Amino acid sequence: MKKKTSLTFKVTLLLFVFVGMVLGLIYMFQTVFLDDFYTKQKTDTLKNISRIVESHMNEPYKEEKYAELSMSNEVCIRIISNSEKYSYTGGCFLKDMDVETINHVAEDAIKNGGEKLFDDFKYVSRFDKRTDDLYLVARYIEKGDSVSLIMVSSIVTPLDVTVKTLKSQYGMIVAIVIVMTALLALLISKLVLKPVKEINNESKKLAKGGYDYLNVDDSSVEFEELNSTLNQANEDIQAADKARKELMANVSHDLRTPLTMIVGYGEMIRDIDEENNEENINVIINEAKRLSALVDDILLVSRMETGQIELHNTRISGKELLENVYRQYEKYCESSNVSLKLNTACDFFFKADKARIEQVLYNFINNALNYNDKDNQEIEIGVKKHENAYRIYVKDNGEGIDEENIDKIWERYYKVDKQHKRSHIGSGIGLSVCKQILMAHDFNYGVNSKKGEFSEFYFDVYEC
Ligand code: ADP
Repeated sequence: MKKKTSLTFKVTLLLFVFVGMVLGLIYMFQTVFLDDFYTKQKTDTLKNISRIVESHMNEPYKEEKYAELSMSNEVCIRIISNSEKYSYTGGCFLKDMDVETINHVAEDAIKNGGEKLFDDFKYVSRFDKRTDDLYLVARYIEKGDSVSLIMVSSIVTPLDVTVKTLKSQYGMIVAIVIVMTALLALLISKLVLKPVKEINNESKKLAKGGYDYLNVDDSSVEFEELNSTLNQANEDIQAADKARKELMANVSHDLRTPLTMIVGYGEMIRDIDEENNEENINVIINEAKRLSALVDDILLVSRMETGQIELHNTRISGKELLENVYRQYEKYCESSNVSLKLNTACDFFFKADKARIEQVLYNFINNALNYNDKDNQEIEIGVKKHENAYRIYVKDNGEGIDEENIDKIWERYYKVDKQHKRSHIGSGIGLSVCKQILMAHDFNYGVNSKKGEFSEFYFDVYEC
């Protein structure tokens, strides 16, 4: 496995590599290449001046121009031509150069296509003055009868001393830069990596659910964002954890009630002969059915959430659907003194999975029956036009829903009041099943409600 290194180590290493490269480059340019740069610059200057001299040769005040060129560039210029005797500037060896050497220089320039650079030009003048480290550019020009030789020269001072000085300075620079890099690494570690470590340590508690609101003492936007992302994640994890605990409590409660009934009635039938009758056996069967429905719903929600359920859509008559559902509850409502109304003023057709849509309506009606303690219970199931759609609804005059809870009731296992009546048909995770089914159909759905007055659960379908 690849060995992991700390961020501090990586940042420090990168800094030192970068600084090392910069120092290396400086060393190369200031010492190794310095001489070459200097020489190249000098020879380029000499060549340029020889060209400038040539361009001014036919001008009236050229002597002044040459003098200026010579002074400002610290070079020596001499021109020999058959039209003028000679001219020169600067008190250098060119003035005393003998004819033999001049001829020699001119020949070399001609051989070289008219221009020749002599580096390390050695010449001993007649005053026995040795010239060392001389650079000379000779330019031979032939135009008709006019023949000229331009010579520009300069001394190239060896840079050994300069390089030595630079080298000794370089040692000091390296030492200072290393100390500064170490300080910079420390600063980065404090400014950038410390908050990262802090957040990292805190976020380790996330998994254990013990992450308090973290406020990292840092003004950077990125850390603030990371901080709030983690705090959000923390809140979500805690909410999910709470939901998980509630789910366990609710599911076990919903499972335990029918199981208690089944066991109780079963034992009663076993122990008391007179109790072995159809009515009691039906209680066991109904409770077992309820249990089975609960397990089915739990499975359905999780399979729908993971997209494992396919819809079997057919063309359904809205009127027929509502009448069927009405008939399912008609008798029960009559016997329970609940006024059940049906409103199918308009007939319409829409595409949906009939069984699933019936399931939604059953859940809505069960809830309408469950969440109503009034003596005059009223439930209306029906359809009305809503914008371009048909709105299928189940309305009750029950306890209603608080505004603060209205969005949460569709969540899995959410209960406004933890103690509720047992439903007539169904399982108890009804609305999350409805939500999954309606979302799978792409139907708009919702609830209008006023606490203590009414609730109207609905979904919108389109004529097809
Ligand atoms: P359960 O009925 O088992 O609690 P549901 O998902 O069907 O599960 O409903 C979630 C919550 O929504 C209910 O606990 C209840 O507080 C609220 N609720 C649903 N239908 C109604 C209604 N018709 N009137 C008032 N409250 C309702």
